[in-house]
Amino acid sequence: MSENNNFSIPSENDDITSLSYTESSYSNEKNQKKRKKGGKQFTEVWQHIKRGKEVSPGSYEGTCNYCNEVWSVAKPIKLRSHLAVECTKCPEEITTKFINLIIKEDNGSCKNKKSKVESLQTTLHFEKTKINESKSKEIDNALLKAFVCCNLAFSIVENPFFIELIKTLCIGYNIPTRRKLSTELLEREVIRINLKVENILKGSSNLTLAIDGWTSPIGRSYWNFVILTPTRQEYLYKISDLTEEKHTGQFLAEEILKVINSVGINKFAAIITDNGSNVTVARKLITDQFPKIFNVRCIAHCVNLISHDFLKHGFAEKTIKYCNILVKFFKNSHKCNDLLEKLMKKYQIVGGKLKTYVKTRWISIAECVNSVLRLKKCFNEVSIINYLII
Ligand SMILES: [Zn+2]
Repeated sequence: MSENNNFSIPSENDDITSLSYTESSYSNEKNQKKRKKGGKQFTEVWQHIKRGKEVSPGSYEGTCNYCNEVWSVAKPIKLRSHLAVECTKCPEEITTKFINLIIKEDNGSCKNKKSKVESLQTTLHFEKTKINESKSKEIDNALLKAFVCCNLAFSIVENPFFIELIKTLCIGYNIPTRRKLSTELLEREVIRINLKVENILKGSSNLTLAIDGWTSPIGRSYWNFVILTPTRQEYLYKISDLTEEKHTGQFLAEEILKVINSVGINKFAAIITDNGSNVTVARKLITDQFPKIFNVRCIAHCVNLISHDFLKHGFAEKTIKYCNILVKFFKNSHKCNDLLEKLMKKYQIVGGKLKTYVKTRWISIAECVNSVLRLKKCFNEVSIINYLII
């Protein structure tokens, strides 16, 4: 139940004695939620999920009929999102059905939500400042976008200082819980964006599909499928967690085919990857089957390989080596680094501090050498002053 437990937390300035928010009104609220959750759409979800044993009154274990994902406590709201967004093996008509249900609820459930919001607001004596449902939804979306795009931890939404900030800006807004923000609201936004992208792609042709995979810090293998339009718009169409699979050319070709088929085989003009042996095979399998699709090797990857070859040259190798020594010196000496910063200010050098060369970040080699060149003027002075101080 916690995901809907978004009652307002009184701010520091609220006189707590003036609030008539009692335990009984809260339990009434909880009961209302219980009743609501037994609605038709939540019953329907169990047609696609195997119900396991009862873990607590009204809560059951569950297993997805299609992908066999298991939940120790299968919450209907989570199951619905799973079928709409996450399940990779769920039949398309079922996915569409649940997407439509969520969208419908998003557009039409204002009445239910309104009564809930109103009852809470009334109890909390916020009548004068209450906001309407569309405004609340607008803030929900803005809040979610800020959290996602600024890479903020969802738990911040429950931080008392953050709540105080939001309440100062808009006292009538009921701040979502971390769970609600990271499940219900996030999934709804994902569906909205996916539908938008699908609509855009419907009206496009000569698309390019770019694929790349990477390993996350916790060792999961993710593959992204990016679709580019002729007007150079890029859409992240899908991210798949393929950790459990062996990444053979054949397997990747099948995954690529799924994406191509779901958008429309005639819409694609090219497929592009780096030069890994498995993706090269996958690319070939696709273009052999569909000769109209160009087999393209990523030019950025080629440039990276060429630049690596350049770096093997004695002069380049030496330059990088000395640049690294310089950067490392200033990183390790806070005193000299402070001096360098002061000199940068004195000479009004723009473009930032010394940059470190990181092997996996292609651009960092140019940034590192450029930063050394940019600060050349300061180095002599640092060494003289440093010499005098010592
Ligand atoms: Zn599933």
